[in-house]
Amino acid sequence: MSNCAIVGINWGDEGKGRMVDLLTEKYDIVVRYQGGGNAGHTVINEYGKFALHLLPSGIFRKGVVNVLGNGVALDPQNLWTEMQSVAEQGVPLTPDNLKISDRASLLLPWHRDLDELEEQRLKDKKYGSTKQGIAPFYSDKYQKKTVLAGELFYPEELRAHLADLMEWKNLILTNVYHAEPYTMEMLEKWLADSCEKIKPFVCDTGSFLREQQKAGKRILFEAQLGSLRDLDYGIYPYTTSSNTTAAYAPVGSGLPSAKIEDVVGVVKAYSTCVGEGPFVCEMFGEEAEELRKAGAEYGAKTGRPRRVGPLDLVATRYGVEVQAATEIALTKLDVLSYLDQIPVCTHYLVDGKQTDSFPFPAVLNSAKPVIEYMKGWKCDISGIRKWEDLPKAAQEYVLFVERSIGCPITYLSVGPERDSIIIRK
Ligand code: GDP
Repeated sequence: MSNCAIVGINWGDEGKGRMVDLLTEKYDIVVRYQGGGNAGHTVINEYGKFALHLLPSGIFRKGVVNVLGNGVALDPQNLWTEMQSVAEQGVPLTPDNLKISDRASLLLPWHRDLDELEEQRLKDKKYGSTKQGIAPFYSDKYQKKTVLAGELFYPEELRAHLADLMEWKNLILTNVYHAEPYTMEMLEKWLADSCEKIKPFVCDTGSFLREQQKAGKRILFEAQLGSLRDLDYGIYPYTTSSNTTAAYAPVGSGLPSAKIEDVVGVVKAYSTCVGEGPFVCEMFGEEAEELRKAGAEYGAKTGRPRRVGPLDLVATRYGVEVQAATEIALTKLDVLSYLDQIPVCTHYLVDGKQTDSFPFPAVLNSAKPVIEYMKGWKCDISGIRKWEDLPKAAQEYVLFVERSIGCPITYLSVGPERDSIIIRK
């Protein structure tokens, strides 16, 4: 059986977590390959309801090995808190079902401070960061100014390395931001309280994955956020600081030779966006509030109300292309059941001209949405499990989206629970 990546097609929060949780049944290994604790994957299953931030969503399945790859922003403090809360709800966590790459770089305590300080400095020009330290972390990673998880096994070298980094970082904290400097005592506390706790899970996941690949094991790659937040292909600079695309999975997972035959792109039946930046199809006022309430669109990590709009076919088609999606999971179709007619953003107007191509980021602010309406179905579809049982109007909405984005919609999610799914293949 082939490898698979589950990725977001839009701005994130499409429901990737519930899809990974559902599909892990068919896989032996789940790998997170980018991003950090700055988003939340919501999963509802027999253990309860979870908002996973860094742990792979396969953690609930017996026999599945979960890997945090070298591409993630490994925040020991947040990870340890998350591990404790998941374990308290009865989910077994051992070095057998959770493995952390020794090549993952550590998010250091000052990264969170720097994120916050820079957003404060930017005032009304802020990026809308979740302030989890992700942007300062990735810029330091690429400047080679952080440490690898595997260094925890070499305490003497680690302390010397941290002291050097601290000296440099304190110059920035005190001179640029006029903030308090760090001390080695503070770093010792961080090492003892968080790093030592996660250390038993750190190992050479690269060789583990290579062995598993040779043994024919099936691997699922789990992405965070979506195409439009990809550092290279998204709405720069309102992107995240890593690559959310499936193409990055082999590099960020620690298995550069991996072939990913199946890319499941997750699309929400309408649009949501957290944070700043252009959002062409955005709805406002009462119409927006109704949709936000119907879909419970408040951030899993921050609780912030999400910006909402109709499904944006221009952005979604672009998202499908950059992910090279082979099939689509359309989620939250049930949320639209209250609408008499369903708005869809079918094209953009740029300088008064209609376009179907997703514009360059600098052009997006002046782009206007063209909205068309489809017939609503006005009944509860959350209990439906078969395509033929869906109301005709719901089928027509799905078929219209499928034609417009040029990719088969094989999963329709009609509720947050694991089994609230219609499989169409
Ligand atoms: P992710 O980051 O892509 O995993 O998405 P989030 O977890 O941030 O957001 C998805 C939200 O929608 C979560 O609260 C899920 O429980 C919920 N959800 C997922 N699929 C469905 C669905 O089909 N219907 C409804 N009503 N909720 C869903």
